[in-house]
Amino acid sequence: MSAISYNSGGRGLARDGRLRGFPFLFSMIAPGLLTACPSFAGFDANPPPGSEWSASASREKPAPAPSSSGAGTASSVPPPAPAGAIAALFYQPSVAHQELYKAGLVKVLNLFASDALRERVVKSASLTAPKLRVDSGWLPTATMTQCRLPADKVAESVLSHHFGPINYFDNPVPGANATTDICPDRTSVDPDRIDQFESCDGASQADALNTLAHELTHLVREAPTCDCSRVPPCSSRFLDRDRDNCTEGWLVSYRLGDTVECHLNHPKDDKAFGACMRKLRPGAYTEACLKRIQDTKLCK
Ligand SMILES: [Zn+2]
Repeated sequence: MSAISYNSGGRGLARDGRLRGFPFLFSMIAPGLLTACPSFAGFDANPPPGSEWSASASREKPAPAPSSSGAGTASSVPPPAPAGAIAALFYQPSVAHQELYKAGLVKVLNLFASDALRERVVKSASLTAPKLRVDSGWLPTATMTQCRLPADKVAESVLSHHFGPINYFDNPVPGANATTDICPDRTSVDPDRIDQFESCDGASQADALNTLAHELTHLVREAPTCDCSRVPPCSSRFLDRDRDNCTEGWLVSYRLGDTVECHLNHPKDDKAFGACMRKLRPGAYTEACLKRIQDTKLCK
């Protein structure tokens, strides 16, 4: 089992605060407090046989295959979105929570594979800041030293990813919705938030699935073939440490989670979707912030 660390080098633990607008909460947690692995109590490097679970995304309405006859028609038919998959292990005594986790993960995976969500990811900037002419680029990390990733590259990197095996926990972490560690792949979600995965209140359910989607982005590795037993260990491609109210709204982790939430709340209404996104992270749409974001080069 690799050591869990909280450092500023873009590796290790990602914690996600419960309260929007208080992004620095966890930077105040001393590394020494994490040595007992409170986020992942119950972890077993050799889990019992039969505890694994996996699922693949299913696409509700696959796009028709491009016609091989009829010149000039094939380019008008978008290719079907590739489907992602997940493998998981669950570490908690509650069977009910295991089932809620599975239900939540299937919902997020199927959403990731849907053309509707993919389109909202790709058009995200124009749907959220149409008058401000921000081009479509998302931040991989908050350090602003990396170029911004075009939204279609975000979709390519995350939406059809094959995740796992991920070790899931329901350990509460004070003040956090969830915590993720990439070596080994582990995510702990607050038990109260797990209860929301199948909430009858659609907004509450969308809010919790925002968290689940957000944590999945942290499990996309910078180097897919990296080895956790080596030094330095694997690093996440998308992190959110050292974010502020401006960068938070443009980070892949937060923006994709918000896109899931706002899409679920407003599946057909682009205007309401944009308003929802702006309401979740208002600091991301100030003129000063947009200038700062656009001053960061777009990846080619
Ligand atoms: Zn995060």
